Amino acid sequence: MLWFNEWQEQQRELVTAESFSSEEDAERVLHALQERRGHTHVPLVRDDQVSPDLLVPNAITEIQSGRFSGQFFYARAGHHHYELLEQLIAGAEAGNLSHPEYVSSLCFSSGMAAISATLETLALSSERRSGVVLHGRVMYPLMKGLLVPIREGSLTSKIGGFAGIEVDTTKPEEVDAELQRSKRDGIHVLAIIYEPFTNPTLEYTDTRAVADIAHRHGVPVIVDNTFLTPYLQEALRLGADIVVHSMTKYFSGYADRLGGVVTGPKAFMEQLKEMRTTKGNVMDPGSAWVYAAERVPTLADRMKAHILNADAIVTNLLRNFEDGGIRVLHARGHSDVRNGSTGGVVSFVFNGGDEYAFERSRRFTKYVLANREVCRVATSFGEEQTLILPYAGMMGDVHRLSAGHIPFGLVRVAAGREKAIGPVIEYLREGIRQAIWS
Ligand code: PLP
Repeated sequence: MLWFNEWQEQQRELVTAESFSSEEDAERVLHALQERRGHTHVPLVRDDQVSPDLLVPNAITEIQSGRFSGQFFYARAGHHHYELLEQLIAGAEAGNLSHPEYVSSLCFSSGMAAISATLETLALSSERRSGVVLHGRVMYPLMKGLLVPIREGSLTSKIGGFAGIEVDTTKPEEVDAELQRSKRDGIHVLAIIYEPFTNPTLEYTDTRAVADIAHRHGVPVIVDNTFLTPYLQEALRLGADIVVHSMTKYFSGYADRLGGVVTGPKAFMEQLKEMRTTKGNVMDPGSAWVYAAERVPTLADRMKAHILNADAIVTNLLRNFEDGGIRVLHARGHSDVRNGSTGGVVSFVFNGGDEYAFERSRRFTKYVLANREVCRVATSFGEEQTLILPYAGMMGDVHRLSAGHIPFGLVRVAAGREKAIGPVIEYLREGIRQAIWS
């Protein structure tokens, strides 16, 4: 992969070992997120165009003056709103690098669109035009659905996809072992992809350690940072090569927009852009405007509110139950996450044997479904309201939980931005009480 060789040279100049939680750095990220660069909204519908909803004024002016560059001629190929959004995201992801100009961003129609286009482009940019993707053990289930687990003997998946090998990235030595094993077996590894906080078990992967190992094997590292957002972790700074986000979650903040974004080395991003233009998985320009003008500038403040509420739920509620029936998954203190935070999602697991824990979790599901006035059952996170996801209730059977390496009694709580978190805490307290003792 030519782009990767060039990038590794550039990367040596970029990665610093500075402390990650300095307030000065946070200020720089905040500033990048709030910068609007003086753009104004470009209307999508104009009555003097041949294809009114897809042309933008610049193209017409350029065509009329004979200077047409083609850049903004057709929205699938390029639009001012994408550029605005992409500059903001690149500023947040790479603003603290010594050479932010080495990196750029591209927005997509959804997180999955961003991830699949990234993998497809990686495959096409490799000499062999194919390969295997190493992926984290616990991940967003559809991400795993994109991959065919070859070590488990499977040769097909429902949607085609890529060959995949599961590896526990929270143990970097296992990444090293798997890369060595793949090499011995003649398997070409395209990339390794994981979430720094596993969803929903919240185990931490040390990107510095994984990137060191992967780079020694010549393998690029992709971090899905949907949970942390660049406000909490700038993964490129830690040695990641490509960062992806589902913008549908924290970036959107109101569960009203789909979106995805990729940030990476410019040479790779040029190939990715060609893929996006041709396959058409681009973000709608209207959404790009809303993200750029409203959502990205408020991300940091919204994240602070989620984190505050998540911390309150842990401290004022879940810790009190730790002697009486649950285990809290909310590790703190990782120095590569700003302020050692774990973000706005917390999980807890009902204790006991598998059957007992599964049953408690199902009772908890019943409680939330019957009492929806304070929290909702939903698979998303980053909304105003606190969202609950009891895995036993959602997945229904223990086989799916086992396949995803999810404890049978696990409940995920995606803290909302409620100004008064007291009622949420009381609501959860009653649910846990009923699940354990009724
Ligand atoms: N990555 C993570 C961590 C997610 O939680 C999700 C969705 O839940 C995705 C990727 C996929 O994103 P989208 O739903 O925007 O396609």
